[in-house]
Amino acid sequence: MSVMEMSHRSSEFEQIIGEAERDLRELLKIPNNYRVLFLQGGASLQFTMVAKSFLGEGRSADYVVTGAWGKKAVESAQIEGKVRIPFDDKAAGYRTAPAFESLDLDPQAAYIHFTSNETIQGVEFASDPDTDAPLFCDMSSDILSRPVDVYRYSGIYAGSQKNMGPAGVTVAILSDEALERVAGNLPPMLDYRIHAKNGSLYNTPCTWAIYVTGLVYKHLLKLGGIEAAAAGAKQKSEQLYAAVDGSGGFYKGHTEPDSRSRMNVVFTLPNSELTSKFVAQAEAEGLSGLAGHRSVGGIRASIYNAFPVKGCEALATFMKDFQAKN
Ligand code: PMP
Repeated sequence: MSVMEMSHRSSEFEQIIGEAERDLRELLKIPNNYRVLFLQGGASLQFTMVAKSFLGEGRSADYVVTGAWGKKAVESAQIEGKVRIPFDDKAAGYRTAPAFESLDLDPQAAYIHFTSNETIQGVEFASDPDTDAPLFCDMSSDILSRPVDVYRYSGIYAGSQKNMGPAGVTVAILSDEALERVAGNLPPMLDYRIHAKNGSLYNTPCTWAIYVTGLVYKHLLKLGGIEAAAAGAKQKSEQLYAAVDGSGGFYKGHTEPDSRSRMNVVFTLPNSELTSKFVAQAEAEGLSGLAGHRSVGGIRASIYNAFPVKGCEALATFMKDFQAKN
């Protein structure tokens, strides 16, 4: 029987989900007083679950908005309660990940939420912020690409589909202390406590996605764990940013240099004709998926953990050739 046929309550599947959790704990050095949950509904449902769980009556939460996904998180949270936005870089086109020390954060905030890597604009925080209020982070597009001090967070969540495996499973990592603060009466499927109590098997989980995600954890451990992933991310992204910076202004990075994403390298060309030509010619050379998100334009090279160094070398070479010819 394959994993698609066996019962999710079989001892075989319990072993699969147990090993996935154990390997993720090892990769991220997750302390024992944190629960690991394998959920469904994508990171988008986490926008709602975090707010429903922790944004109690009369409380307010601070959302640091560095791009499109942080904004979506705000929109979901506003349905549940009061949201303050101490930072929103929209007017500047989302180019900066601010130092938390520079922000006017609410010391009474129920929690602070941010997005460690903004996938569309390519804005990434280089390190874990230090805050007094409980900290929640959407790590969907850079989880497992650098070491994280889990202790600084009350909760971390991430869809699997960028750095961990196929779409369908969303990982949530919550401190026991946070779980104790979850609001009273929630629909069972939106209640972290119920998922925790049932070892992520309250209802039928996405068994196949969990199985493959577990294989990716094993693969990452074999490659040398997060340190190896971080070294790869640095090497790959630096290659592309060097091609941008060395172009004398032909290519322009979208993001401020100290906020540059190691996962999504976003840059523009002098005009839209050249941008279209770049995308088409790159595609013809096997470099596909480079058109930027429609809200930003330009080029976006998404280079998640699984993307090979050779692919970045090929793109950097293509960029130089394209510039020379144009
Ligand atoms: N947050 C970030 C940073 C993302 O990149 C994405 C998906 N691209 C989401 C949230 C939404 O995730 P999902 O589609 O799994 O709901």
